[in-house]
Amino acid sequence: MDARNAHPTWYDRPMSERVHLPIVTSDAGPSAPAPAVRRRHPEWIRAQLPTKPAFFELRAMVKELQLHTVCESASCPNIGECWTRRALTIMILGDICTRSCRFCDVTTGRPLPADPDEPRRVAEMLSRLSLEHTVITCVDRDDLADFGAAHWAETITRVKAACPTMTLEILAGDFKGKTELVDVVLDADPDVFAHNLETVPRLSRQVRVQASYPRSYAILEHARKRGAVTKTGLMLGLGETRDEVEEVLRDVAKLGVDIVTLGQYLSPSKQHLAIERYVPPSEFAELEQYARSLGIIEVVAGPLVRSSYHADGQASLVRSLRAQK
Ligand code: SF4
Repeated sequence: MDARNAHPTWYDRPMSERVHLPIVTSDAGPSAPAPAVRRRHPEWIRAQLPTKPAFFELRAMVKELQLHTVCESASCPNIGECWTRRALTIMILGDICTRSCRFCDVTTGRPLPADPDEPRRVAEMLSRLSLEHTVITCVDRDDLADFGAAHWAETITRVKAACPTMTLEILAGDFKGKTELVDVVLDADPDVFAHNLETVPRLSRQVRVQASYPRSYAILEHARKRGAVTKTGLMLGLGETRDEVEEVLRDVAKLGVDIVTLGQYLSPSKQHLAIERYVPPSEFAELEQYARSLGIIEVVAGPLVRSSYHADGQASLVRSLRAQK
């Protein structure tokens, strides 16, 4: 088995391990050990199985070009829906992450050296797909002196040259707070700079382990001051209170972040944090309305929303936001 197949995605796993089937939940707090109770997801959380030819064509292209996607590596439940309309999120710098966030299904370990040919293959893939908008993300590479900033810049430059009419959103890590490395990435001129706060300040260390809310906030603030179109996302259902979520939304609005996503946390396995609560669709709708009332321009909220969910429909919004900067 090669490294790419060592991490099967949820649709490759046995039925008993798939994330959209009954999973373990707990009422005992984010740091609690795996509980004994098994509970089905509520009826509003249903993943679409990947059955359409377009899905398999895209999957074959990803394999042919030896790329990784967060859709597969993080076991995203939306892969059937997104890939059927050719919306994917390529993940650069390999598929092994140096961090061990307790919500994330991407493999933690010692990564391979960055592949200098990867930016070319990413550009080729996106050029073949002729998309209006795409999102690229990465694993965290705390093992590299620049945390992958130069590789990011090379990827962005090549993609923009190969796809001049496509808008490009990048979902980056925190570069350990080194704003000069964020500048290396921003200088390559992505259309959207996204960095996820992921959760409320009180839970940040438990959920993200090697990251922190103030550091992520500072990264967003820096990108904003540089005039970038900015985006961030939060997962709900990790034990946060409604007041805490609203406080984060006020923080984000104060910063001038343009786009916010809110989605339900779904535990990828028993080894990850348990789901503390299922947030009903009506509460997502209320939070969306609240965020918009604060002046946040675009808010995508719902149980299955992930950072890149339906980002492919935001090309004209991104163009107009860029024109206003
Ligand atoms: S929501 Fe994002 S990560 Fe999930 S399948 Fe769609 S594009 Fe991929």
